[in-house]
Amino acid sequence: MARQLDAATREALVERVRFYRDLGLTEFYRRPVDAAMLAAEADEAQSVAAEAEVEPAVSQSNVFEEEPAISARKSIAAPPEIAAAVPAMDRAAALQMIRDEIGDCTRCALHKGRNKIVFADGDPNARLMFVGEGPGADEDAQGLPFVGRAGQLLNNMIAAMGLTREQVYIANVVKCRPPGNRTPEPDEANTCTPFLFRQIDVVRPQVLVALGATAATYLLGHRQPLAGLRGRVHPFRGMQLIVTYHPAFLLRDPRQKKEAWADLQIAMKELGLKKPASGS
Ligand code: SF4
Repeated sequence: MARQLDAATREALVERVRFYRDLGLTEFYRRPVDAAMLAAEADEAQSVAAEAEVEPAVSQSNVFEEEPAISARKSIAAPPEIAAAVPAMDRAAALQMIRDEIGDCTRCALHKGRNKIVFADGDPNARLMFVGEGPGADEDAQGLPFVGRAGQLLNNMIAAMGLTREQVYIANVVKCRPPGNRTPEPDEANTCTPFLFRQIDVVRPQVLVALGATAATYLLGHRQPLAGLRGRVHPFRGMQLIVTYHPAFLLRDPRQKKEAWADLQIAMKELGLKKPASGS
């Protein structure tokens, strides 16, 4: 019978799975646990920790059961021509109409634990848009995306591109905080993303940057390891989509910042932004 994990172990396990997933490793198997060894373990905590041990693997047949699979989202039609060209002066109002339609949303289960709906932040006429996964605790408290530690890093990434946060537009796959910062379930993401797509179609940035595997999956409509998506431009609804690491992942593994910077330089090239002078 499956053993119930305590909250702390489960959270640590989810973090580890997210870490591997950000690296593009999405298939896992549970390491077999020796029964005699289990019996010899001194206390319940140790046995729970032993059960929590997972390793990334190439197996296609044994998906780690604690991690919900990300299914492809339903196809979301490209906007009709008239909607694809909201005049710049009307974009703020068009975005407000989407926010009004969301209202005090109860369309998916995430509404139960949220404090504030996190709609978006930034310039309705931005040429560059970032899409993350979902609000965390700080975002849930303030009602704004990327305001915690990961947000500070994103601000630094934007500054390194020679822009300010006020010049870009930032949103997430889901607008309500998943409990314990878990990955949104497919039905939650698929319920919420039509609003995100409408926001994208109003802002119509020249370049869209997907931050992490979840954003890439639900924007592109299929699941693929991040490693196979990074480092190039994907045509996306008449825009250019670039995939890079989520800032929260970069906080866990700062060595990957160099790779993320390489992705952002692709975005800068598409936007015609100059590289900052060396040493600046
Ligand atoms: S996550 Fe999106 S669909 Fe779900 S309750 Fe929040 S706003 Fe509604």
